[in-house]
Amino acid sequence: MQTGKINVNTENIFPIIKKFLYSDHEIFLRELVSNAVDATQKLKTLAATSEFKGELGELRVDVKIDKENKQLIISDRGIGMTAEEIDKYINQIAFSGAEEFVEKYKDKPEAQAIIGHFGLGFYSSFMVAERVEIRSKSHQDGAQAARWECDGSPQFTLEDVEKEDRGTDIILHIHEDSIEFLETARIENLLNKYCKFLPVAIWFEEKQINNTQPAWTKKPAELTDEDYASFYEELYPFAEKPLFHIHLNVDFPFNLTGILYFPKQPKNFEVQKNKIQLYSNQVFVTDSVEGIVPDFLTLLHGVIDSPDIPLNVSRSYLQSDGNVKKISSHITKKVADKLEEIFKNSREDFESKWDDIRMFIQYGMLSDEKFNDKAPKFNLFKSASGKFFTAEELQAALKPLQTDKNEQLIVLYTSNEKEQHSFIESAKGRGYEVIVMDSPLDAHLLNMLEGKLEKTRFVRVDSDTIDKLIQKDEPMISKLSETEQETLKQLVVDRVEKNFSVQLEAMSESDMPLLITRPEFMRRMKDMSALGGGNPFMRDMPEQYNLVVNTNHPLANKILTESAPEKQENLIRQATDLAMLAQNMLKGEELTKFIKRSVELID
Ligand code: ADP
Repeated sequence: MQTGKINVNTENIFPIIKKFLYSDHEIFLRELVSNAVDATQKLKTLAATSEFKGELGELRVDVKIDKENKQLIISDRGIGMTAEEIDKYINQIAFSGAEEFVEKYKDKPEAQAIIGHFGLGFYSSFMVAERVEIRSKSHQDGAQAARWECDGSPQFTLEDVEKEDRGTDIILHIHEDSIEFLETARIENLLNKYCKFLPVAIWFEEKQINNTQPAWTKKPAELTDEDYASFYEELYPFAEKPLFHIHLNVDFPFNLTGILYFPKQPKNFEVQKNKIQLYSNQVFVTDSVEGIVPDFLTLLHGVIDSPDIPLNVSRSYLQSDGNVKKISSHITKKVADKLEEIFKNSREDFESKWDDIRMFIQYGMLSDEKFNDKAPKFNLFKSASGKFFTAEELQAALKPLQTDKNEQLIVLYTSNEKEQHSFIESAKGRGYEVIVMDSPLDAHLLNMLEGKLEKTRFVRVDSDTIDKLIQKDEPMISKLSETEQETLKQLVVDRVEKNFSVQLEAMSESDMPLLITRPEFMRRMKDMSALGGGNPFMRDMPEQYNLVVNTNHPLANKILTESAPEKQENLIRQATDLAMLAQNMLKGEELTKFIKRSVELID
């Protein structure tokens, strides 16, 4: 038997490892099972190149709990290690890795956050074990099995033992603080989290835990739509069916595979982020991919697997890593290409899913320049009459009717189809299209679009009278004389208590007699500041409303010529209330009065 002292400077690094990794003790299992998988894969490779000529037999990894002896055992039938190899790989290499790590991080307060997801390899087993044994027999002909043991101090023992089968058993003598890892449910949970898609069969409690050939490792041509759907179910058992998927498959200039799914998007913006799982060679690494992929992509679900993402480094390093950046922009490009492809090949389907994907697309356009460059090919505008347009199609469709006298294209939009219904109807009456922009991101989006689209302005449908929204050359002529108009205006100003700015307008006879509009500029500033952009003071400014009197409506004349002051007042009040009603502003006492007055009128 050989005893020795592991060559480290730090007297006892295990308490430090324990302290640092406190929040994430559980990753020891991922580390040990992946080592077992690696050892198995290595043996397979040796067999494939005929360097190993023995029987492979059933290659699997077994995880067992021995509650009585407080042991957790991870066994494989992989390449195994001789005593010399244990000395080399465990005593020297692995240990120096652990030591270096501790040296680097022991004084840094952010260490916990940084290393949360990153393993320490074999030595992480000391986070949960007071004593660790390795019993291993190399795959080489006539190899002598060896047993290594260490109690967490730098002292170890290494001796020959009898072991029948080839491969390695890692035996953890679980520490009293960590007896949770002797619970079946806990271990099963962890295996499901970290090992669900490992490429070698993992057995626990007489069941195989994992799917060794998850969909993303196969070629798209081998998979049907059902395969993609059932893989999604495997990832998120109770989730609603996704809308469509993107299969990523890159081998140059880096290695990346994966499947991303578009989930059905809830309308209320309460999106579930952190659904993308990151794997490295089928080993689960993390499901918090923020900073690793562009923010808008975190709205997607699915799996990304890349051995080229350096996993044993800190998060901040990951975020600035050149490879990671390349991977990120590649995924963005792929996603944009796929959206374009779906739009081109099955436009109807794409349109039918628009409500669910538009948030994703808009978020991408606003936050990622590269995505924004590609988006015009598939970003859609939906009109209140249910038609869909790309920006290019929209400009072409609106050009004949919605170009104003300054050659500006005016895109009318509504932020709420129900509330602005009467305005939408009168615009439709002119043959205008009204675009529905009712998502939380639309206010930002239209500012951005105005900057991009030439000679195009977005104007909300209720921001002015229909003629003023899109000003043409020939203004309507008022039927009232200048003095009649002055009198009428004064009458209205005197009767209306509200803080409306009263304006006269020569409109069509068939338009409303009185109309309330909300000027575009002021309203947009307020919207922006409510969303957290623009000038914060705007939020507290009072709403600005215009009360527009249509001087060409027969009612205008009727008001002017009414001799009984009480009747005159009633006409003005009634018409004002109707205008308020059309803007969904008539509430409470005013509504009650309006109803009472209306009843009297029909009586
Ligand atoms: P890493 O896996 O990152 O190399 P570890 O500390 O986990 O670091 O392991 C150190 C080395 O010990 C491995 O590279 C491998 O050579 C050897 N080893 C660990 N576990 C096993 C095992 N189950 N079978 C064979 N060799 C192993």
